[in-house]
Amino acid sequence: MKPETLAIHASNLVNAATGDVTPPISLSTTFYRNENGNYPGGHMYSRVSNPNRSALENTLAKLEFGAEAAAFSSGNTAGMALFQALKPNSHIIAPDDMYWGFKKQLLTIFKGILEFDFVDQTDLNLVQESIKPNTKVIWIETPSNPLLKVTDIAGIAAIAKKAGLTTVCDSTFASPVLQNPILLGADIVMHSSTKYLGGHSDVLGGILVTAKIDEFWSDIRNVQQTGGAVPSPFDCYLLCRSLKTLVYRMKGHCENGKKIAGYLNNHPNVEAVFYPGLETHPQHNIAAKQMKDFGGMLSFLVKGGEKAANKMINKVKLFAQATSLGGVESLIEHRYSIEGPDSKTPKNLIRVSVGLEHIDDLIADLEQALTV
Ligand SMILES: *Cc1c(COP(=O)(O)O)cnc(C)c1O
Repeated sequence: MKPETLAIHASNLVNAATGDVTPPISLSTTFYRNENGNYPGGHMYSRVSNPNRSALENTLAKLEFGAEAAAFSSGNTAGMALFQALKPNSHIIAPDDMYWGFKKQLLTIFKGILEFDFVDQTDLNLVQESIKPNTKVIWIETPSNPLLKVTDIAGIAAIAKKAGLTTVCDSTFASPVLQNPILLGADIVMHSSTKYLGGHSDVLGGILVTAKIDEFWSDIRNVQQTGGAVPSPFDCYLLCRSLKTLVYRMKGHCENGKKIAGYLNNHPNVEAVFYPGLETHPQHNIAAKQMKDFGGMLSFLVKGGEKAANKMINKVKLFAQATSLGGVESLIEHRYSIEGPDSKTPKNLIRVSVGLEHIDDLIADLEQALTV
């Protein structure tokens, strides 16, 4: 089945007793055993599995062409479960512009437990040269946050395969609609489902999808089920509901994103635009090869430095000045002030999550805000 169809039908578990077309929310934390000691419904206790979570995991596994998925209470806990499943002193090759929450986990929580290097992964030679005897994982993030750098997934996966390493791809900015890392050779795909998968800025969640069920995946599953950082049945229900419209929402995000990138690229008060769909983007050819479309995330530099960027962001009316991304409403943020003084993000950088409002209204708002 095609993604449009899968997204609508994969989570609909038919309940013969009630005949629901849409699955109910199963709030029960515990499930009946029969006389043989088995669990006829396939569930024992909700930390281990639950009908709503299984529906969500099965849908994501299908959308990402994986063998299985594991759902978590946030994107951060999904990544953390993977780090926790590594043996002590394992080495990770991470991107130099890794999502700051993961970078912070490595630098603070896993300091002294795991080893890691932050590398410019647009240079495959640098990645190759960073492999050590104890390297276990190459963690990539593409497109990246907030500079929209694009990493060659197949190129990295080939390097990893040769060295016996696991390739993990944070594919949050792309969603399963625009990019399927497993089809390009990645072993595990990670999503913050708080973003495009949820799509309405009202549910926190994270997902890991694996290409194959191996020892490492069993260790990750053990962290999920024994650690217990799992999403509630209601959160899973909300995500399954959102997934049904994912393909169509992504079409709208891409269409609006492309138009806004083009508009900003021609604006005299804009210094630079970072959007993989622009031919001037340094990795545009890789993006065109590995993505079906270029998404709704972009960032740009305002002429006149931090002061001009702050002035602009305080003038927008329709774009909500808030962090996060992937919702139906357009969001705008001054990234440096979110990331703090250690951030390498340019101080005049503004990140935009382009929503599904009418393009004319969005451009009119940017136009009045950029007029000095
Ligand atoms: C938001 C985000 C995360 C973390 O997800 P949470 O759901 O906020 O914990 C990880 N990676 C990327 C690229 C993100 O945008």
